[in-house]
Amino acid sequence: MNAPSSPYRGRFAPSPTGALHFGSLVAALGSWLRARHAGGTWIVRIEDLDPPREIAGAANGQLAALSAFGLASDEPVIWQHDRHDAYAAALQQLVAERRAFACWCSRTDLQRSGGLHRSPCVAAPDATRAPAWRLRVDDETIGFDDVVLGRYEQRIAEAVGDFVIRRVEGHFAYQLAVVVDDAAQGITEVVRGADLLDSTPRQILLQRCLALPTPAYLHLPLALDADGRKLSKQDQALPIRPDDPLPALRRALTFLGIAPQQLQGLHTVDALLRQAVAAFDVAAIPRVGSIVHMRHGLS
Ligand code: GLU
Repeated sequence: MNAPSSPYRGRFAPSPTGALHFGSLVAALGSWLRARHAGGTWIVRIEDLDPPREIAGAANGQLAALSAFGLASDEPVIWQHDRHDAYAAALQQLVAERRAFACWCSRTDLQRSGGLHRSPCVAAPDATRAPAWRLRVDDETIGFDDVVLGRYEQRIAEAVGDFVIRRVEGHFAYQLAVVVDDAAQGITEVVRGADLLDSTPRQILLQRCLALPTPAYLHLPLALDADGRKLSKQDQALPIRPDDPLPALRRALTFLGIAPQQLQGLHTVDALLRQAVAAFDVAAIPRVGSIVHMRHGLS
């Protein structure tokens, strides 16, 4: 496919917690199509922030699967394990501005306040053990206009409370890392699954606290299993088959609103992708997820 030239910058950011499944393929393709349609750049970022949940070799397997589906990062792949200094600097900035604070509250302490953390802490500082670091959330509503789903608003203080940005075990939280990296990589639009819709207000709040730009957001419908649940890498949702990419590629493109007739007679990954870029229309992306019958595979 052609080299990118316009300022549009998108990304696909899988966590290496298992093999890519149909839902991940939809997110990868949706973000890639949007970038290609805009003549922009598409970047892959491996979100390996959480070693206990990661599976050895999964990231390389994901990259190999993406390449079998014709999706290669336009720039070198960024790995979050290389980015700890940037996350630490962001945390330091938030602490210096008194937006982030150390918290020793236990789960039981939080249960007593309805499961959410609200400043001030119940637990006293304890120099003998590491704290979690949280962002102090004021009582305000944060909203944004999703490209597909329209207006979404959240009162973060009520929905999630003061949220963790660095965990007791020392790992930086997804919410902080994603904001730091999207800004560092100059991402202009985030395209991802609708399961992350309710994380977006937290990310916008962090962008404001860190004086970073807010990209546009486009949340894609979720592929659901026969029980109506989101497919998940951890649940071993059926992995896509890199050795036989065409059936899953067709299904994913159709899932994103491209009419099957437009894909007829095309029998290579490259031909399907070329046609998909021409046929892709953001207005045709469905707003709600649909069930993908996976029991017998994707062919
Ligand atoms: N790493 C996240 C995941 O695999 C996605 C992050 C994002 O797209 O913002 O669910």
